[in-house]
Amino acid sequence: MSESAASKSSTARYRPETRLVHSGTLRSQFGETSEAMFLTQGYVYDSAEQCEARFKGEDPGYIYSRYSNPTIAMFERRMIELEGAEAGRSTATGMAAVTTAVLAPLKAGDHVVASKAMFGSCRYVVEDLLPRYGIASTLVDGLDLDQWKKAMRPNTRSCFLESPTNPTLDVLDISSIAEIAHQAGARLIVDNVFATPIWQSPLALGADVVVYSATKHIDGQGRCLGGMILSSEAFIAEHLHNFMRQTGPSLSPFNAWVLLKGLETLAVRVRAQTDTAAKVADALARHPKISRLIYPGRADHPQADLVKKQMRAGSTLVGFEVKGGKAAAFRCLNALKVSRISNNLGDAKSLVTHPATTTHQRLTPEARAELGISEGFVRFSAGLEHPDDLIEDLQAALEQA
Ligand SMILES: *Cc1c(COP(=O)(O)O)cnc(C)c1O
Repeated sequence: MSESAASKSSTARYRPETRLVHSGTLRSQFGETSEAMFLTQGYVYDSAEQCEARFKGEDPGYIYSRYSNPTIAMFERRMIELEGAEAGRSTATGMAAVTTAVLAPLKAGDHVVASKAMFGSCRYVVEDLLPRYGIASTLVDGLDLDQWKKAMRPNTRSCFLESPTNPTLDVLDISSIAEIAHQAGARLIVDNVFATPIWQSPLALGADVVVYSATKHIDGQGRCLGGMILSSEAFIAEHLHNFMRQTGPSLSPFNAWVLLKGLETLAVRVRAQTDTAAKVADALARHPKISRLIYPGRADHPQADLVKKQMRAGSTLVGFEVKGGKAAAFRCLNALKVSRISNNLGDAKSLVTHPATTTHQRLTPEARAELGISEGFVRFSAGLEHPDDLIEDLQAALEQA
């Protein structure tokens, strides 16, 4: 069993559901049905000559689990084939994936343009971390294509966005932003966590790099952290290979195994969670205690046409604003009996988040207001419970708001 064995198991001709179950499997001499978990740091060699050849890259095979590992290779291969990418690398967390994809290709003097509306830690990387190393960044209103165009400079190397955005579920025009980036000689990196690989394929829309927090829907059962970067072979060879080997943001083989098994049920879970989210959105849309509801699958979403064009379905998330601000939102959250209060998403358990005091607490009130994250805003992540139990629970809790 070797790295080259993983790449031979191409299932590209099959539909995503089939790829999620079979892609990348490396079967050992024992013929196990379920993929094996290789909990090993390192590898032994038949001879000193073989060891030398392995280090020279002349003998295919594993060297050290910071570089690669059979269980990690199976997870990576399954993600690569699901996404339809040329290549990919896994990481210990979603933030390790974002930080590596954004930082590794850059040097002092480069410039990055990113959408303002994004996961709090991603915004920290772009807004606070990069400038400390001499990499300038400009944040734009991601919905405004003119702002992207005007922000481009001769030294702009990367553009970065997430869509739908966290937590306000705006949908950004990936094809048009990719075109603007490419015209300026820059690459587009897309954080596809909220859309999931089931509903959106940024590479097919023109993006160059896709990143995931596998912690979310890919695990989907709240067990472990992980991340993934998908791109061309050239991007990885040129920018990631050495950076990742030497700096070590590696995924653990145990977590890779959990995530690999999570992928087998990803399509089934995401479809069920999306159906539930759509039902919750429809049930709450005109609720008297809610001033605004946003769901990418509804006809009243501000970018409904774009959703149809670039996504295969809405989302597993719903955003809504409880009338009466923070106090009312807290009363509603505290009254829930089925959905649980958490900052996570994509889980089998439905989770509710108050972004202003958690994921986006670090931002100034002005920055939050600019993003539409009001004190009453709540993010709902649909789980796998019966939709009617969730709707009844939310309606009862809103009565307490
Ligand atoms: C959670 C999340 C991340 C970070 O992932 P971790 O696995 O928690 O490090 C990045 N981007 C988005 C959109 C996320 O939701």
